[in-house]
Amino acid sequence: MMIFLGPPGAGKGTQAARVAERLGLTKISTGDILRAHVREGTELGKKVAPIMERGDLVPDDLILAIIKEELKKLPVPRVIFDGFPRTRPQAEALDRLLGDLGLRLDAVVLLEVPTDELVQRLMKRAQEEGRVDDNEETIRRRLAVYREETEPLIDYYARKGVLFTVQGVGPVDQITECVLKVIGAA
Ligand code: ADP
Repeated sequence: MMIFLGPPGAGKGTQAARVAERLGLTKISTGDILRAHVREGTELGKKVAPIMERGDLVPDDLILAIIKEELKKLPVPRVIFDGFPRTRPQAEALDRLLGDLGLRLDAVVLLEVPTDELVQRLMKRAQEEGRVDDNEETIRRRLAVYREETEPLIDYYARKGVLFTVQGVGPVDQITECVLKVIGAA
């Protein structure tokens, strides 16, 4: 089991997909799952749409329900989490869940990207993809929420001895190779 950690715009989704493909793991992206609910107009989608639009975090209990459901779908869960956990309670709940399932957290990959570069990337994505949460105000909010809620997880996982840091700037291929190398898979 792996986790991709890092600020919005760091390239977690892209790298998680590439590494999942290379290692034959299943990628679980809470952001993608939530956006699908919003698109399809489900009850959950209606609840989370305004939260996501503001750049705030969806409540932990809703996220954990999603994660449990996704894990249940897999006969043998071998997973890369993208965008989860994002809070300390989510991280602690994941520890318990993995413990119950007898699964081990092998690696947490932190993608580091300077803030200026993050804002530029998110603004560019805003123009190209038109995601409702990719506007300047929301981008600032998401970065602030990251610093406050998610950044403390770096220390949480460093203490467990499972944290690997990779610079998320440069050619996408090279970053993937770096990730595979630091986790000892290449
Ligand atoms: P990014 O990393 O670029 O901000 P994501 O696609 O990972 O984008 O997430 C988009 C939004 O979905 C977040 O701003 C948040 O509102 C919600 N979200 C995704 N994952 C979580 C999570 N684990 N906990 C709480 N909210 C989440």
